[in-house]
Amino acid sequence: MIFDREVETLPRESLRELQLDRLRALVAVAKERVPLYGERLADVEPGDLSSIDDLRHLPFTRKDDLRAAYPFGMLAVPRSQLVRVHASSGTTGKLTVVGYTRADVELFARVNARCLAMAGAERGMMLHNAYGYGLFTGGLGIHYGGERLGMTVIPVSGGMTERQLMLIEDFRPEMITCTPSYALTLAQAFAARGVAPNEISLRYAVLGAEPWTDAMRDEIDAGLGVASSNIFGLSEVIGPGVSCECVEERAGSHVNEDHFLAEVVDPETGEPLPEGEDGVLVFTTLTKEALPLVRYWTGDISSLSSAPCACGRTLLRMARIKGRADDMLIIRGVNVYPTQVEAALLQLPELTPNYRILVARSGTLDEAEVEVEVSEVFLREAGTESLSGDLDHVRELRERAERRLQGSIGCSLAVSLRAPGTMPRSEGGKLQRVVDRRALR
Ligand code: AMP
Ligand code: ZN
Repeated sequence: MIFDREVETLPRESLRELQLDRLRALVAVAKERVPLYGERLADVEPGDLSSIDDLRHLPFTRKDDLRAAYPFGMLAVPRSQLVRVHASSGTTGKLTVVGYTRADVELFARVNARCLAMAGAERGMMLHNAYGYGLFTGGLGIHYGGERLGMTVIPVSGGMTERQLMLIEDFRPEMITCTPSYALTLAQAFAARGVAPNEISLRYAVLGAEPWTDAMRDEIDAGLGVASSNIFGLSEVIGPGVSCECVEERAGSHVNEDHFLAEVVDPETGEPLPEGEDGVLVFTTLTKEALPLVRYWTGDISSLSSAPCACGRTLLRMARIKGRADDMLIIRGVNVYPTQVEAALLQLPELTPNYRILVARSGTLDEAEVEVEVSEVFLREAGTESLSGDLDHVRELRERAERRLQGSIGCSLAVSLRAPGTMPRSEGGKLQRVVDRRALR
């Protein structure tokens, strides 16, 4: 089902015209109402923008700009016109605060209704929403989207896994929304109870808020008996609902481009990159009232594609997020994203998606270790619970995993095998995959 059929299938030329009109209006409003843009866009007249490509001449907005204006200094409306505030926690203490007018909340609902519909939702279906409610945008964003589409929304929020299973078994929802790491926690909890995937009522899952891989998707789909789609968003741009995969192809997420104009730029030079090339995602909000952003530098690494899609939407698709530019580990000079490690590990059926990466420095040398849980089947077939490195089959698996990582990443990472159930699990929120002890020194 296509929620906003007309815009979601607009010929690309018409879409670009619509974007240009909106961009001009945005520049005018931002200059007039936001002091930062009054300065930075002083030389830019809306009428000077003759095509969407002129966007490349405008300056970027960065997270530091929002921090400097903390909490409400970037608003284009008086604070009293906000009907809601959300915030995102960063690594450096202060929150990134975002605000919504009534119209922004309606937009937030609309783009999420579109995303849920892309992923297979229909009016009347039941949605088990296990994204966290609160300052985090995930819970309420999806909630309003589900209601807007006409679904029955169960606002479970994250955590209390046993209660989640009970509600799913009793209410029989068709769709679930949460982080991919929590979807895996739920799948494992069902398996531990002896509930088979085909006994679970869920048919679709809409998962996001953290990087994940296709290999992880296969595990989740098999474990919950669903087709899961990747949803992407960030608080600064609106929250979830920026883009989502359609259930027809599940190969890249359609960007709601009539509201969020997407670019991919070179992380070093800031120059726009051609389709298909990886770089930093940059979004311009075309219709937001409270917090309009011009060329917001997300730090997320992805690429764009305008290839036609089986679902009929003409909206650009963005590839899975490889990681954040600031998530990227540089290990002995090699750039490593956690998702690359995940993809390499999951090529071995003996390993599971329960892993984390520990980085430390010994002297001047970076040392990286990957801890990963082996599967129950591996232990059963070995006939012993022991993972001692003295055992041949344990050493063989460890060495095979290390060769696989070396082969696909080009950097040696030591592998430690862990018993099933011993690694940290998602309790409902985003899972921390990397422990970088170099920063602690
Ligand atoms: P927040 O504003 O706290 O919700 O965090 C937004 C960030 O979460 C994004 O900039 C991405 O780094 C990450 N994120 C959100 N959705 C996804 C996704 N589907 N895949 C990968 N990373 C994601
Ligand atoms: Zn599609």
